[in-house]
Amino acid sequence: MKALDELTFDNRFARLGDAFSTHVLPEPLDEPRLVVASNAAMALLDLDPAVAETPVFAELFGGHKLWAEAEPRAMVYSGHQFGGYTPQLGDGRGLLLGEVYNAAGEHWDLHLKGAGMTPYSRMGDGRAVLRSSIREFLASEALHALGIPSSRALCVIGSSTPVWREKQERGAMVLRLARSHIRFGHFEYFYYTKKPEQQAELAEHVLNLHYPECREQPEPYLAMFREIIERNAEMIAKWQAYGFCHGVMNTDNMSILGITFDFGPFAFLDDFDAHFICNHSDHEGRYSFSNQVPIGRWNLSALAQALTPFISVDALKEALGLYLPLYQAHYLDLMRRRLGLTTAEEEDQTLVERLLKLMQNSGVDYTLFFRRLGDESPAPAVARLRDDFVDLAGFDAWAELYKARVARDGDDTEAQRRERMHAVNPLYILRNYLAQNAITAAESGDYSEVRRLHEVLSKPFEEQAGMEQYAQRPPDWGKHLEISCSS
Ligand code: AMP
Ligand code: MG
Repeated sequence: MKALDELTFDNRFARLGDAFSTHVLPEPLDEPRLVVASNAAMALLDLDPAVAETPVFAELFGGHKLWAEAEPRAMVYSGHQFGGYTPQLGDGRGLLLGEVYNAAGEHWDLHLKGAGMTPYSRMGDGRAVLRSSIREFLASEALHALGIPSSRALCVIGSSTPVWREKQERGAMVLRLARSHIRFGHFEYFYYTKKPEQQAELAEHVLNLHYPECREQPEPYLAMFREIIERNAEMIAKWQAYGFCHGVMNTDNMSILGITFDFGPFAFLDDFDAHFICNHSDHEGRYSFSNQVPIGRWNLSALAQALTPFISVDALKEALGLYLPLYQAHYLDLMRRRLGLTTAEEEDQTLVERLLKLMQNSGVDYTLFFRRLGDESPAPAVARLRDDFVDLAGFDAWAELYKARVARDGDDTEAQRRERMHAVNPLYILRNYLAQNAITAAESGDYSEVRRLHEVLSKPFEEQAGMEQYAQRPPDWGKHLEISCSS
């Protein structure tokens, strides 16, 4: 395991030069202090978890110190925001500090979010507040623990620096890790600014570093685009299966690696609601829960447009046609497993749809329903869950279909069924009210709750002693929290 000064850098993106990013130094936070760190993320850098508690850790990730080999850069990109094209975005408050490679030979981007103004800050102050930094930290580590591809978070550093949002808050930084921070919007930027040479350089960079196996294909760029489609379809299938609503699926927030990225007003569903909108400035519901599926395709076609210099329009269209079937296959596969099924039948899609409709009509807790369904054999399980439904006749009809379907699936013991189902149905998810409790405590200087919640969420499928309060439906006050977009 390594000490902090033993990280090894290899800054491949910075070497692309000034057309791709601008050198900017982090602006330090006052009185930086560790709020929370992720041991699992530390391990990705081979870091000894004990270093998180040393003062130099908070200085490094609070913008006071830098490694000699770090090369902090603000990346330039653009993107479609709520359907409209914004010609220039870029890292307005985050810096790519450099790329570190670990003993396994994996490169990880170190991205410091909330590091101050850059040439891309537009009207913003370059800062992030404690509240949003904690939310990003908890969400990225929780999604990863659920098996949903995501950027990771190493730590949150708090401070006494005042930052003005709707009210005065405190500045913070979150150190984000990802194998790449390249977004759909990077390709769009070079396409729409008509810089074909740089766009080709970017495409080569992504192909060489992130999709080297596509080199073997007759049309490497097309193979790469197909792979991006496949990964996005799988990621969104997992969001839908686990009730995750991203909230701001602009193309500048979509990763070319198909990882969940740039957390804003995201939410996990409490009650199942297909029409749920977690972003309060999304008045038309463009990014509502169920719209995430078609928006995934919309975003991929925006990327396709930017790839027209490399790939024929016909080939791009054909590739885009893969998205929905891939999505449906991944989604159905996961939902079958959530229902405890091990085989596939034609009618499973209808079984899932009917259940979701019943849950929607009765406001049933999405996470707890599946967890409880796996607690015991189908007959007693559905009998116990019945009380949560208003349309009892509807639920009874569904339960009959379900029991018959499970019987055809093959027989296993109650214990086998429980083990299999609990391994895919989390007991603990990052409910908005749980995040809010942790934030409220942290804002008054008590970081124990955010640390405990992070611990609990790092093993979402395992029942943990004494942690019952994290596996409850939200109290009334926590049901429809307004999550501010100004983060
Ligand atoms: P987001 O909606 O967080 O993905 O951000 C969209 C764009 O606004 C990106 O270019 C961000 O870097 C920029 N941005 C967001 N918040 C700030 C801020 N407080 N200061 C500067 N730029 C920001
Ligand atoms: Mg963004």
